Amino acid sequence: MTAACNSFSTDRHGWAELLPERQFTPALNNDQRVPWTVVGAGLTGLACARRLAELHPEHNILLLDARCVGQAASGRNSGFVVATSQFPGAVAADQVDNYRRINRINLAGLELLGTQVAENNIDCQWRRDGFHHVAAGTTALKEYQHFLNYLEVLEVEHQPLDKRAMHESLGTRLYQAGTHIGDGALVQPAALVYGLADSLPANVSLHEQSPVLEVGQGSPVKLRLATATVTTDKVILAMNFESASLGFLNSYMVGSTLAGSFTRKLEQQELESLGSLTEWGAISLHSGGATLRLTADHRISIRNTAEYHGSVLLTDHELAKRQSIHRAAFNKRFPQLAEVPFEFGWSGVEGISRNGTNFFGRQRTNVYLAGGYNGSGVSRGTAFGTAIADYASGETSQTVSDCLASAPGAWMPPRPLLDIAAFIRVRSRFKDVGLDR
Ligand SMILES: Cc1cc2nc3c(=O)[nH]c(=O)nc-3n(C[C@H](O)[C@H](O)[C@H](O)COP(=O)(O)OP(=O)(O)OC[C@H]3O[C@@H](n4cnc5c(N)ncnc54)[C@H](O)[C@@H]3O)c2cc1C
Repeated sequence: MTAACNSFSTDRHGWAELLPERQFTPALNNDQRVPWTVVGAGLTGLACARRLAELHPEHNILLLDARCVGQAASGRNSGFVVATSQFPGAVAADQVDNYRRINRINLAGLELLGTQVAENNIDCQWRRDGFHHVAAGTTALKEYQHFLNYLEVLEVEHQPLDKRAMHESLGTRLYQAGTHIGDGALVQPAALVYGLADSLPANVSLHEQSPVLEVGQGSPVKLRLATATVTTDKVILAMNFESASLGFLNSYMVGSTLAGSFTRKLEQQELESLGSLTEWGAISLHSGGATLRLTADHRISIRNTAEYHGSVLLTDHELAKRQSIHRAAFNKRFPQLAEVPFEFGWSGVEGISRNGTNFFGRQRTNVYLAGGYNGSGVSRGTAFGTAIADYASGETSQTVSDCLASAPGAWMPPRPLLDIAAFIRVRSRFKDVGLDR
């Protein structure tokens, strides 16, 4: 099923395809004069608009998205709401404060989302009892040792598991070791963003299928859309890697295209062939390893491809090809389910930087930006989105300080060299991935 909303790359595949159709909000087609505009209604923009509405109850907050909510990374991710990030390599003593800073941001986002889900009764399979970090091959097993050290240094509660315990929990004999961290949540990502969009405060006006085509210079800021002009005192760009299309951070962020597949719903005896847990998530300790979930509605999802693909989604034909890679990885883990077909495949584009940093702050007078979380933006994007609303409003908080302390982005050359640099950057995550893919 493919239903393009507009010229921005989109389709109906993935987690959104598992949900009932949502009533989208109308596109903006008349001029507006507003104090605040947020561009992008992913997790960053939704959190930002919500917080602005709370800080400025007397103001109307305009929230614009080029696509329909749920069609960008925020509705297409694997649904891991991370509290404790993985960092590759041995624990670096001079980075411990930085690890703590990033985990404080993650935790702030996790708490915010948990509260918003509960207060608005968002039906999104939210489950906050952590997930597994797993290793099968030599490189991932080395990372496992580093990860255990890191958890000890940071005093993060966790439960190390050997091969037998992993098999008993997850139903696969592939993993040689792993650990379960009790904090962090699993969620149906499209249901989450639908719920967040549909429960925005009354002083937020959301318009979908409303791409901003140009951000003017000067004050107030003028935003040009195809059928309207918005004049706004302040604008917050929450567009992830697509901020480049409006001339912001174009040498610092690109999109990496990931793809995954879901099985059909497993039958009772198929579920019984798995481990003792009825719902779980497993993140590889190798950066190129597969991400897996057994979802609340009894599907297994597997995501194990990432590529530089011009920052757009895969076509149906390309996706079908990637599914053979998903299939091989699935059968290696669950030979007992080799006959279970995939029902859906999906792709999604995440924003990455060369040095893995995130972006936060003022870009120019009255123009602010938050984004680019390198595959870990569910909790972090929520925290960044909330904090950028605070920052643009002149508020201070621990999370604002933590976001401001993000390392500066590493420069990338312009196209066509950018394409080569991005290709190499994404490819490098699979180095020595071996069994973990
Ligand atoms: C397959 C996949 C798996 C992932 N798994 C995880 C995971 O398990 N856990 C995790 O923490 N992170 C994960 N991520 C990363 C995470 O999804 C992102 O970091 C996060 O969703 C980014 O949120 P965002 O709101 O900043 O950006 P987006 O979700 O990309 O939202 C940006 C919005 O801006 C809009 N936009 C762009 N240009 C314009 C314009 N000109 N005018 C108006 N609107 C515009 C877009 O349409 C979009 O809706 C994954 C990503 C992918 C792709």
